[in-house]
Amino acid sequence: MVDIAFIGLGAMGSGMAVNLAKAGHRVFAYDLVPAALDAAIAAGCVASPSVAEAVDQVDFVVSMLPTGAHVLDVYQGPDGVFAHIRSDTVLIDCSTISVDDARAVGEAARAKGFMMCDAPVSGGVAAAAAGTLTFMVGGAAVEFEKAQPILQAMGKAVIHAGQSGAGQAAKICNNMLLAVCMIGTCEAFVLAERLGLDAKAFFDIASQSSGQSWSMTSYAPVPGLVPQAPSNRDFTNGFAGALMLKDLRLALEATHGVGMTAALALKSEEIYSEYILKYTPNRDFSGVIDMLRNK
Ligand code: NAD
Repeated sequence: MVDIAFIGLGAMGSGMAVNLAKAGHRVFAYDLVPAALDAAIAAGCVASPSVAEAVDQVDFVVSMLPTGAHVLDVYQGPDGVFAHIRSDTVLIDCSTISVDDARAVGEAARAKGFMMCDAPVSGGVAAAAAGTLTFMVGGAAVEFEKAQPILQAMGKAVIHAGQSGAGQAAKICNNMLLAVCMIGTCEAFVLAERLGLDAKAFFDIASQSSGQSWSMTSYAPVPGLVPQAPSNRDFTNGFAGALMLKDLRLALEATHGVGMTAALALKSEEIYSEYILKYTPNRDFSGVIDMLRNK
């Protein structure tokens, strides 16, 4: 059992920190908003009054923060992680941030002699609470080996994607594909409806044909087809359209960095921007079918 500082106990981080405590680790929790710590404290985590006091003397730091700017500030700021850890503390950032920011903070860590991994997740709030996240990890082999047992206490799969930044690269490529695929799936259901084809009949056929995808068989945007899909609960408690838009923008930023034009990702960004304005930012991303139905 080891000592772990956990920074950022929001929708995802609170469940993750609780799972580390349940695994028997001593978890020092810190969030800017004290109330965010309540669930973690109830589950046995120790509240810390600052980043400095949370990370002082721990074996690992795990962070789950909103954006790259938060991550750079928490690690590199004057009272941040780098300024207060022991030389052998291993750093794991699980936030979804740009590949460039992940590489920058990873390089800054290594320049100071620290080990650091980027380890963004697939799976939402329910998977964070259940300990069934998938982690995609960027870092050297030795860094991955150190981080792996800690990540295993919070997830069902821990995969080494490659060197620093590769975890974030895998995350944004996956979600770029998911956005395009979901919009295509929604358009196919809308066309089927307009052609008078029964949604269940279309689902049964496409699920076993070349149109099959995760968006279809695990997350169908039409209710009554896949029991756990957010379409059955009016698109609540799913993967927020605003978070999909965030990930799409990170993917587009990366395409600019490598001189690539991703036409379908660009169009998806336009569609999700309109979607979160017309509906609510928290509504599940598969609910975009309602907007496409009205076009
Ligand atoms: P959230 O906004 O609910 O939580 C973020 C927490 O970080 C908040 O409690 C906030 O107070 C805290 N925070 C911000 N700045 C801080 C600082 N300087 N020091 C300490 N705490 C600070 O966000 P979330 O939904 O938990 O998402 C976290 C990350 O996980 C994001 O990068 C998101 O893109 C990614 N992600 C989210 C989901 C999801 O379904 N929510 C799924 C996969 C990945």
